[in-house]
Amino acid sequence: MTLEEEIESLKQQRNAVILAHNYTRPEIQDIADFVGDSLELSRKAAECRAPVIVFCGVRFMAETAKILSPESTVLHPNPYSGCPMADMADPDAVAEYREKHPDTLIVAYVNTTAATKTAVDLCCTSGNAEKLIASLPPERKILFLPDANLGANLNAKLNRHMELWPGCCPTHNRIMPEHVLAAKEKHPDALVLVHPECLPAVVRLADRALSTGGMLKFVRESACREFIIGTECGILHRMQKENPDKAFYPLEPAVVCPNMKKITLEDVLFCLRDMTPEIELPEDVRRAAKAPIDRMLKALP
Ligand code: SF4
Repeated sequence: MTLEEEIESLKQQRNAVILAHNYTRPEIQDIADFVGDSLELSRKAAECRAPVIVFCGVRFMAETAKILSPESTVLHPNPYSGCPMADMADPDAVAEYREKHPDTLIVAYVNTTAATKTAVDLCCTSGNAEKLIASLPPERKILFLPDANLGANLNAKLNRHMELWPGCCPTHNRIMPEHVLAAKEKHPDALVLVHPECLPAVVRLADRALSTGGMLKFVRESACREFIIGTECGILHRMQKENPDKAFYPLEPAVVCPNMKKITLEDVLFCLRDMTPEIELPEDVRRAAKAPIDRMLKALP
């Protein structure tokens, strides 16, 4: 039996579903029941009501699945697959800020740990951040965390003055304006799509700044045949698979998130066999972390 066949057989035995993020290894995406961005995957986790969810993505995403699906056993195949940006917003530091600035609304990108979510007012994703921030009263003081690039791009687009937590995604931060200029010169007919976690100077040079879900929709619907993609390279696998007649070029081949790539087929096989490592959250933490996610879903159903 191949590894894939063994995983499939264990998956049936456990009555499990496998969810994988767009940035995971191609072979992980190929065995998944559903591939998507963090919000799509969490929604899927909440909807599918499977007794066992194998979450192939970084830890905060698996935590979000557990927050939204407390009845399911959520397995995270590699406990070392974390997100450095999520870890840049330490929950104690956020709680301390909150104490000092009781009038400031704290908006957290969903890329935060469950512990940090307990200390914030509202969550957002890269796909809905613009709508969500635009819906907040202009006079309201806001702290945006943990991604200063996403926050600065939102400030520029919406003419807001949110205070920005000094965090960033080390993977997207690696993309420089000169990479965009060089890629445009090499592929003059291609549209440049970048993720809003990129530096504002990069976003200004791009044709569009979109979440991964937004990029996939855009390339599917666009009449253009060539695209330069400025986000984690794992998404190119799905883009090419879904659009075999279009061409996709990575903006910079070194844009690889080492944490997303940590999850291997062996990890998935072993976690289904041994039913570990499991995501466990104390119920009070789970409930408190769910509140800002619920507010987001209520504001933008
Ligand atoms: S790509 Fe960036 S934000 Fe996403 S998991 Fe990796 S480090 Fe975190």
